[in-house]
Amino acid sequence: MTTSLFENFGLKKIINASGKMTALGASAVTDEIGNALKAAAQDYVDIDELIQYAGTVIAHHTGAEDGCPTVGAAAGIAISIASVIAGKNLSLIERMPNSEGLKNEIIIQKGQNVHFGGSIDQMIRLGGGHVVEVGSANKVECDHIEEAITEKTAALLYIKSHHAVQKGMQSIEAMMSIAKKHSIPFIIDAAAENDFKKYYAMGADIIIYSGGKALEGPTSGFICGKGHFMEAARKQYKGIGRAMKVGKEAIAGLITALNQYPDKDDRVDEQISRMTNLCDRLNKVEGLSCSIKQDEAGRPIYRAQIEVKKEAGMTAERILHQLESGNPAIYLRHHYVNVGILSVDPRPLLLGQEDIIADQIMSIIKEAKENNVR
Ligand SMILES: *Cc1c(COP(=O)(O)O)cnc(C)c1O
Repeated sequence: MTTSLFENFGLKKIINASGKMTALGASAVTDEIGNALKAAAQDYVDIDELIQYAGTVIAHHTGAEDGCPTVGAAAGIAISIASVIAGKNLSLIERMPNSEGLKNEIIIQKGQNVHFGGSIDQMIRLGGGHVVEVGSANKVECDHIEEAITEKTAALLYIKSHHAVQKGMQSIEAMMSIAKKHSIPFIIDAAAENDFKKYYAMGADIIIYSGGKALEGPTSGFICGKGHFMEAARKQYKGIGRAMKVGKEAIAGLITALNQYPDKDDRVDEQISRMTNLCDRLNKVEGLSCSIKQDEAGRPIYRAQIEVKKEAGMTAERILHQLESGNPAIYLRHHYVNVGILSVDPRPLLLGQEDIIADQIMSIIKEAKENNVR
């Protein structure tokens, strides 16, 4: 096997079986996207024209009127907020995030003002927004939202995410109908969602997506929505957007990823057969019970779920820790590690890496058992 770029840098090799993790580099792109990144990096283009073109590609794949590429969904939040506050006015754009005297209040349900790896609240403030949280962390009524609306309200923001509190919040439909009733822009952060058409079709004005999550593109993001907001969004690159400049490489990669997306194959059979092989090996180990489980949210992801029992001679936490501190460092999904369950996500795994994971788990347990005997 040839050594990777990162190994040549002297960095440790990573086997990612945990999912789309920013801390591990989010996604590994296809050859076609990789070629686009390289070709763009080695050439010149009129950036305004490229951003405009990206807008038409985003529009095509989302059904929205227009779009704007960003460096990620976090930047997408800041740029969207600046767009609803400063619009297309250059002097105001250059004044952001100072929005004194302007309509700048952003209403958000308390259980959705979360941390996704960065804080939603801070991204809003970066765009010049004043955060107005409504309700309680586990209970928000329509009245809370409606009563928070003032002549300074710039937008209502909904966070569609597994990070947010799912119970007790008002639905997209409910919040959107309040926004419409008061003619206030309605923004949805749908960073990790895989349906790029749904929320525009529902009637949202601006929708924010990540390019490195469901899309499996390069480090990037995009927003889509109503035409005048997207024109305003692109113009923010003369303002706060400059500090979150999206490069020609990322835009070219994003466009390629969007064009590939409709043909993207979830390769369910391959996922299941690879995870079955992994489970067959691990089930031979005393104290491990491995089976295939579909994603909790019903997405076409089939993970191997490894239950670590007492007979294994060590806890799931301990196995997780040893895998992460090895070389290669192996990262598994660990949402349920507290109840002794680890899982292997086949999507980010390169071919054959499931064997390395099985070998490594088996040798960690074997060593622990030998040490216990001694
Ligand atoms: C991941 C995420 C973001 C940030 O996305 P990036 O593309 O990494 O900037 C924003 N909001 C939510 C809800 C997320 O899950």
